[in-house]
This record gives sequence, C-alpha cells and structure tokens, in this order.
Amino acid sequence: MNAPSTLGAVLDKAVDLERLLDTAVQLIAVPSRTGEAGAALDRLAAILAADGFVVSRTAAGHPAAPAVVVRLDSGRPGPTLQFDGHLDTVHLPFIPPGRDAELLTGSGSCDMKGGTAAAVEALRVLRDTGALTSGSVLFTTHDLHEAPWGLGQQLDQMIRDGLHGDAVLIPEPLTAYVPVVGRGAATWKVHIRRAGAPIHEVHRPADEPSVIAAGADLIARLGEFQESLTTRSDTHAGCETVFIGQIHSGEIYNQYPQECWLEGTRRWLPGVLRTKVEQEFRGLLDGLAAETRTSIHCDFRFIRDAFRLDPADRLVRAFQASYESLAGSPLPLGAKPFVDDGNSFYGLGPIPAITHGPRSGGAHTTSEWVDVADLRRVAHVYALTAALYCAGRPATEEVA
Ligand SMILES: [Zn+2]
Repeated sequence: MNAPSTLGAVLDKAVDLERLLDTAVQLIAVPSRTGEAGAALDRLAAILAADGFVVSRTAAGHPAAPAVVVRLDSGRPGPTLQFDGHLDTVHLPFIPPGRDAELLTGSGSCDMKGGTAAAVEALRVLRDTGALTSGSVLFTTHDLHEAPWGLGQQLDQMIRDGLHGDAVLIPEPLTAYVPVVGRGAATWKVHIRRAGAPIHEVHRPADEPSVIAAGADLIARLGEFQESLTTRSDTHAGCETVFIGQIHSGEIYNQYPQECWLEGTRRWLPGVLRTKVEQEFRGLLDGLAAETRTSIHCDFRFIRDAFRLDPADRLVRAFQASYESLAGSPLPLGAKPFVDDGNSFYGLGPIPAITHGPRSGGAHTTSEWVDVADLRRVAHVYALTAALYCAGRPATEEVA
C-alpha cells in the first residue's frame, strides 16, 4: 500500500456522516433568505466554536450577517486552500429540514447548506487526522450571494480585504464536471421615452417620435449585435449573448404612448472587462436615441464577472487526483452554466476556484434535496484535495 492510498483511507475513516448531517440539518433549520442570513451564520459559528475551532466574524460591509471565518493552520509554511460557501437562500417560502436514509431536504439543502456542511466536515477531518502537513485551510461562509437580493458584495469585500486563499473550493451543486470557463452576466432594463404628453393618436403632432417604433428598432439592432457576438465564442461556454426577456408599451389601442421599456440579459466571455461590456451596450443605445429623437435610460446591473480556470493549475491537479482516487477516473472539463462566487474570485484575483458539490437538485425551488451518500464523498474529496494541494508536491506523485 502506498502513502496516498493510506491517506485516503485515513480520511475516509475519519468522516463522521452523522456529525455532517447534524450540521446540515441545523443549518437548514434556520431560515436565511438573502440579506437575512445572520441567524444561520450565528448557528454555524456556534457549531464550529463548540467543535473547538477558533471562529472569527467579519461584517465585510454587511453587519446584519457577519461572515464566519475559521483557519486550520498546519503550523508549517505552504499555500492556503479556501473552502467558501454561502448560507443565504433565494426568497421562497421556508421549507424545514427533512431526512431519510438517502436524501436530506429543505430550504438550502441543495443550494448550498448541504455542501457547506460537507466542507465543515472536511475541516474537522483534517484537524482530527492531522493530514494537513503544511500550509493551511481557510473556511469562510457568508450572505448576499443570491441575485437579485444580493450581488456578492459581501464576498467581494472580503476578497478586496485580502481575506482569501491561494485557491478555492466552492461546494455549489455541480458534480458532473470541472467547470473551466463561465460567462459573466448582467441584467439590463431600457426605458425609451418621448417628451410629449399622452395623447389620442389622431391628435398627435406629425413629427412626434414613436417609442414603439424605437423599441422595434432596438430589437432589430440587438439582433444584429447578437449576430456579431457569435464570433466571440468558446468551445465549452458557447458564444456571448444579448437576450431580450420582455417588452412593454402602451395603455389602450388608440393612445399614443410615452414610454416603451425592454428588459433582458447580457452574457460575455472571460478576457473582457465588465466596464467595456457596459460601454458597448450604452453606445448602441446612444446611437438609437439620437436617430429616433427619443430619450433612453438604461439600468445596467452587473451580476458577476466571467470565469476561467487553467486546467493545468495545481488546484485542478490536486482536485482531480483526489476525485480519481475515489471515483476511478478524473472528472471531465466543462462550462459553468450559472454564475457563482468562483467568478468573483477570478474577476477580483484572479484566484483559481473549483465549483464542486454533492449530487442534489431543486435549487431555487421549494423542493430542494441533497444525496446523503454524496455529502460524505464531498467531505472526503475536500479533505484529500486540501492535504494534497497544501503539501505542495505535484499531485501525480501523491496519488497512485
Ligand atoms: Zn448557491
């Protein structure tokens, strides 16, 4: 038996599924809609403190729900691997925790209190086994993740304050592949207005601008813009997009309307600054306003940066070696379908981050669930990845 197999076996034995599930159930039991996750974070801080960890809290601009921070230090030099989770949930009716032999259910069980509890268990396993022989693990969890109630501003502040690791594992519900690219996202809402008052259509001045025609013109221009965006494309993530989700104008059939508004999204690939993306969109609107003699107001709301991860990064090698040692083969590479905190770590760092969590479903619904056996697997993978990553030797030497 070689050393890595021994390490894997030691870590596996140290995972306490009952302890993990108890933490998950306790976290799910505290309602924590985005912006209001203070009580859930307090609960987690109490659990960790009772476990003997030194817990610190940082408001990071959101004093109603200070983030929870724990460091596990080997006492020897080496890199820091961060486990980062959010404890806020989308604004839906609260569902209390439920549990049977196979599944854990309730608000946030999938997104992402289950995964966070698995990361907590990994932290305990590393401490209990002494498997962290160099470097350290930084465990963080926070509020303000879910849009549109939060825009990641608490985590952004923590990163800007230097409170981050050299690399990050994020236990969001994504299991089937390692995301190596993800598009950035923004929402936009455009109001097109004319100066005159509402008026019966037969009385309107002949040269009064039409906001509906300007809206139609905008749709046509965004169509052309989308055509041009097909040249900006990535093997995994596809191409950049501009999407129109709704359009509204008018009150009754024969009144000349004053306003037309449209709303949609813009998604872009890594390598472009978010400010450039916005500038380009606003430039298109400026041209339209001048040509249609309308005034155009745009609320361009940035959600998250685009994301990229180098498959050769040492974090990926440590993670894949750990994953393979349990599953028999490494995970394929793919695109991140959503934006998450990994995008913030990339955008503000770049700090490499892997999104990988337990098998689960029902995110952003009232029917969330997470697979109990897979929670155990994630705790094991996180602990082993930390041990390999922080040891600072090439992962290939460490796992047969
Ligand atoms: Zn989430």
